[in-house]
Parts: sequence; C-alpha cells; structure tokens
Amino acid sequence: MMREMVQVERKSFQLGDIVQMKKQHPCGSNEMEIIRMGMDIRIKCVGCKHSVLIPRAKFEKNMKKVLRSVEEDTQS
Ligand SMILES: [Zn+2]
Repeated sequence: MMREMVQVERKSFQLGDIVQMKKQHPCGSNEMEIIRMGMDIRIKCVGCKHSVLIPRAKFEKNMKKVLRSVEEDTQS
C-alpha cells in the first residue's frame, strides 16, 4: 500500500535564521538563532546567548516557525 504523502507546512530554515521554538528557554526567550547547520544543528538563545547542539530531526520537531530569515542575495 502506498502511503500518501501529506504536504505539511514546510519548514525551511538556513544558517543565521532566527527561529521560534515551541518550548521556551529557561531564560524566558523562545527565539533562537541558527549558528551551525549539519547533521546536528547548533542554535543560540537570543535572550541569554546560551547555545545548544541538537539533532536535526529534533530541531525540526521543536521549531515552531522562522521569525526572521537572512535572505541574502547570494545569487550572481
Ligand atoms: Zn536563553
């Protein structure tokens, strides 16, 4: 049986983006900046500058939305 692919709201993010997490950081802020991308993602709390490394899957699950994207013109 074929499983239907459900197109959920696509979470796209890139290095330098400010994202909102579902869970609030103990410092009271829930805004995180993506400072490293790879198999694991390093995010830095905007409030207290504390950074954590979390697996990509977990990050995508815990991320609510991208608040600010650093959409720079890198073309040409
Ligand atoms: Zn914090």
